[in-house]
Amino acid sequence: MGIFAKIAAGEIPSYKCAENDEFYAFLDINPLVKGHTLVIPRREVDYIFDMEDDELARFEVFAKKVAVAIKAAFPCVKVGQAVLGLEVPHAHIHLIPMQSEKDMNFANPKLSLPAEEMQAIADKIYKEFSK
Ligand code: AMP
Repeated sequence: MGIFAKIAAGEIPSYKCAENDEFYAFLDINPLVKGHTLVIPRREVDYIFDMEDDELARFEVFAKKVAVAIKAAFPCVKVGQAVLGLEVPHAHIHLIPMQSEKDMNFANPKLSLPAEEMQAIADKIYKEFSK
């Protein structure tokens, strides 16, 4: 099993932001900004565009709900969405609360936040998602 599948299965710790039977959302460990979240399918699939239409549609609808929760927890202009997948071969959507387009630049230096702050950020998003 790959690292993200293990995260979704709870075998590797993560800062959980949202979940349902099929999908899981957790904080990016090296966020571009506070609230930078990854959304993944629980099942192992590398390339997002290999997903069947129905699954991809459900994935995006789940990501939308997570984005709404992120925006409520971390007021921003919009939540940006990006798919790279160059590092981890398990489909994932990056959701990033943006104040400007600069926040979406993956070449920016990443934040390294203390564990307590990461937990507090995840809890805030989880609370909004669960409303
Ligand atoms: P990419 O595959 O290019 O979209 O990049 C993978 C992303 O996953 C990067 O932003 C990493 O910081 C993030 N990442 C890698 N391992 C973990 C992990 N164990 N927990 C949370 N985020 C991770």
